[in-house]
Amino acid sequence: MNIRHHLDDATLMGHAAGTLVPGMSLLVGCHLERCADCRERLAQAESVGGALLEEVPPVAMDSSNALAELFARIEAEPFEESRPTQPRMPGTPPEAAMPMLLAGQLDGRRFDELDWRTLAPGVRQVDLHLGGPGATRLLRFAPGVSVPHHSHRGNELTLVLRGSYNDEVGRFRAGDVADLDDQVAHQPLNDTDEDCICLIATDAPLRFSGLMGRLVQPFIGM
Ligand SMILES: [Zn+2]
Repeated sequence: MNIRHHLDDATLMGHAAGTLVPGMSLLVGCHLERCADCRERLAQAESVGGALLEEVPPVAMDSSNALAELFARIEAEPFEESRPTQPRMPGTPPEAAMPMLLAGQLDGRRFDELDWRTLAPGVRQVDLHLGGPGATRLLRFAPGVSVPHHSHRGNELTLVLRGSYNDEVGRFRAGDVADLDDQVAHQPLNDTDEDCICLIATDAPLRFSGLMGRLVQPFIGM
């Protein structure tokens, strides 16, 4: 998998420290499944954190063991990035689009088996109801459709699972993550001929800037 957009250092440090909201933690784990670069940087963040925190309670060791076990399982899986000679597929194959952590959260259901709720023409979502501040949802938007222009009060993580989009920040394809803070306003546009499906986690409600966005906000509930 050719990943070009990664988690930023603050997010990886938060993940290592266990301070992210549940949805962001899930999303980070899903990106790490596919991204050797961020796994390497997380390992560095954890060793720095371990050196800084001399009095780590036993419970923190449990969570780092859990992470190590997860990565051990992941290493055993044959991912695309370990087979660079494989010809590129048109679009994203379904089995490549669903991270293991997310599959567990969805009780093994495929994307097409989920109860998608229509927000606007060509835009549908599934709320994962993970609790904590902000929201965690799957967003699915049709070819040529854009998500209403918005900024954030807090942070927004977006992981592309299938298809691609582009916005003011760049072009994001399957495996890429957009790690945005409250300084960025954007309007993702699906630029391919297949539905774009993203996992999105926020730690505070979004702030829509256009009329369309303000109209749909009460229905989106975020
Ligand atoms: Zn990465």
